[in-house]
Amino acid sequence: MSRVFNFSAGPATLPEPVLEQVRDEMLDWRGTGMSVMEMSHRDKPFMSIAAEAEADLRKLLKVPENYKVLFLQGGATGQFAFVPMNLMPAGGSADYVVTGSWGKKAIKEAGKYGTANTVARPADDVFNHIPARDGWKLDPNAAYVHYTPNETIEGVEFHNAPDVGDKPLVGDFSSTILSRPVDVAAHGLIYAGAQKNAGPAGLTMVIVRDDLIGKARPETPSVFDYKAAADGESMLNTPPCFAWYVSGLVFKWLLDQGGLEGMAERNQRKARLLYDYIDSEPFYTNPVNPADRSFMNVTFTLANPELDAAFLEGAKAAGMPGLKGHRSVGGMRASIYNAMPEEGVKALVDYMKDFVKKNG
Ligand SMILES: *Cc1c(COP(=O)(O)O)cnc(C)c1O
Repeated sequence: MSRVFNFSAGPATLPEPVLEQVRDEMLDWRGTGMSVMEMSHRDKPFMSIAAEAEADLRKLLKVPENYKVLFLQGGATGQFAFVPMNLMPAGGSADYVVTGSWGKKAIKEAGKYGTANTVARPADDVFNHIPARDGWKLDPNAAYVHYTPNETIEGVEFHNAPDVGDKPLVGDFSSTILSRPVDVAAHGLIYAGAQKNAGPAGLTMVIVRDDLIGKARPETPSVFDYKAAADGESMLNTPPCFAWYVSGLVFKWLLDQGGLEGMAERNQRKARLLYDYIDSEPFYTNPVNPADRSFMNVTFTLANPELDAAFLEGAKAAGMPGLKGHRSVGGMRASIYNAMPEEGVKALVDYMKDFVKKNG
């Protein structure tokens, strides 16, 4: 058996030592005689797994005391609805900064629950940059400001949290969480599906400031009411136990790698390798404003799109699957999350060079 360099956008590659540990613990988790999948979430073994994962996540992100960390289900798409249900009063409004396809989905969903204002959005939805902050039109009555720190499909990233004054800033961190340090205190709420950069699908992490909890509309489902979830320590009902456990192992792996400072350094080096090569070779193009380029999802097109299929086929045969761009934008996308080693990015650049030699 040989492992490939998996460039999939999500579910995505996981650290090998984590997969090995999961394998080793599969039939007998630390003398319990059962796997984590088979344990009661109310018994001590899983309670300790859950508590350790939370403590490690708090350590990694330096989550302040006055924030709750919730381990929920429903994905980031669920949060597109649960954020307004919890934070936007009936008849109220919220501000949305739209810098890509996920932001578009978030604002559309929020519109079901009230007025979702567009604060900034590139003309004609050409998502290749972050609109300058001084052009944003914030509404003083908005309940919160929502943005997408990393647009996974277009590869557009905020490298710092925008300043929105006293308004709670809400960020969909699905594809950038744990890739670099984050100023949690600059946010009222952070959410992320686990399957891009933290663990298996099925788990959604929500980090929310205490004063934003307890304002949900009465019709909010209890499992997605942040207060009920926080009071129940994310165990109001059966949580996604296995995904929580595996994510916890990823958190430990990250701490071993030097935490998020260490990861940020490595991730920036990986991204620079790819962008530098793309910028130096006319056969490949990345359309994103250099200052706003994603460290996690590197998009690029070939000079001749008729060669796309051959490029993907050759990459797959060389042990590099998952490079096809999202169906909505086409082209290529290399997702280079935490678990993608530097050698994987080097192998990709070598393949790209070779492809130009043969086809350019
Ligand atoms: C993948 C992704 C989503 C959707 O996540 P689900 O967990 O499938 O709902 C939302 N936002 C961003 C930024 C993503 O990358």
